[in-house]
Amino acid sequence: MGDWLYLVIAIAVLAVVLVAGLLVRGGRRAPSAPAPTPPADVAPPPSAPTAETAAEVEVPEAPVEPAAPALERPEGTASRLVRLRQRLAGSQSGLGRGLLALLSRDRLDEDTWESIEDTLLTADVGVAPTQELVERLRTRLRVEGAAEDARVVLREELLALVDAGMDRRLQVSGADGRPGVVLVVGVNGSGKTTTVGKISRILVAEDRSVVLGAADTFRAAAVEQLATWGERVGVDVVRGAEGTDPASVAFEAVKEGVDTAADTVIVDTAGRLQNKAGLMDELGKVKRVIEKQAPVTEVLLVLDATTGQNGLIQARVFSEVVDVTGIVLTKLDGSAKGGIVVQVQRELGVPVKLVGLGEGADDLAPFDPGAFVDALLG
Ligand code: GDP
Repeated sequence: MGDWLYLVIAIAVLAVVLVAGLLVRGGRRAPSAPAPTPPADVAPPPSAPTAETAAEVEVPEAPVEPAAPALERPEGTASRLVRLRQRLAGSQSGLGRGLLALLSRDRLDEDTWESIEDTLLTADVGVAPTQELVERLRTRLRVEGAAEDARVVLREELLALVDAGMDRRLQVSGADGRPGVVLVVGVNGSGKTTTVGKISRILVAEDRSVVLGAADTFRAAAVEQLATWGERVGVDVVRGAEGTDPASVAFEAVKEGVDTAADTVIVDTAGRLQNKAGLMDELGKVKRVIEKQAPVTEVLLVLDATTGQNGLIQARVFSEVVDVTGIVLTKLDGSAKGGIVVQVQRELGVPVKLVGLGEGADDLAPFDPGAFVDALLG
């Protein structure tokens, strides 16, 4: 959009100069040989051409190069979080409201408890966590009784389920002057490359220097996509030719990070779900090669929230292959199944650290259990 605007303005200015030139010459034919270029020291400042000088200036016929695109400034943390919290509430509030309506009934009979269970299961909370939650709600509401407290009780119990005590900080800093290295894994289509791009923007917004490694060398489109993310915010993207060994790209990226004293290197990896042994070989090698230069500080598993049980099965495979330290749950904006947060954390014993809430460049937020439960309750 910005590039087009510059191009249109440049063309308009040229047109004005041309027309002014023709008018001043009064219909004289332009000389066939180009006028000698005035020496640089006498050339008028380009910003203030007079009709006289404009008339003498030869207009080059070569196409006008559009100005280099200005770097984007990623959205700042405060406004991003406010915006994304609203979006989270918009997508998830059905679950909490449904539960509250059921819990506020005059009589909490067996049918009602069954409906509560169904609501939780539909939102992908998972069987065991659902049964635990219902049991706790039954006990507390039986003892404490008052329906008006249902909201408070539900909030507390949901928060316990989401496990507010987990450490969700992203480990993006290295030690001993070396960069932090974030390895991003997950199946194709989960939103891995997009997430790498979004994380780099968050770090750039915090004035950190970042290098990206496009180690998903099996898909040219993924490499291109990552290069575009990098260009937009002025972040270097290390890439290899299609089919290059992913480990060598990862190595080069971390090397560049070390050489340029970058704060963080983020490495995108291939997400082919081949057999487990193949995946293990590939990711194992990437990690080993990286660690010749700097330890991997964070392994993020990207999971599409809309894929339910399938996503969980994939998550299990990845967590058996690499030591996952954090989960990024993408596409929560397109799913009312936020309960998957509970299941995946239980399954892997690893916290959800980030949530993707849209296709926009800055639609990634840290996962905040309190804000999440409040979004559920609407
Ligand atoms: P990859 O194959 O895992 O690298 O996946 P991509 O990063 O190419 O993403 C696949 C698609 O998911 C793209 O169309 C993204 O725009 C989209 N996507 C990624 N994250 C989100 C998200 O949080 N919300 C939504 N709605 N779409 C997302």
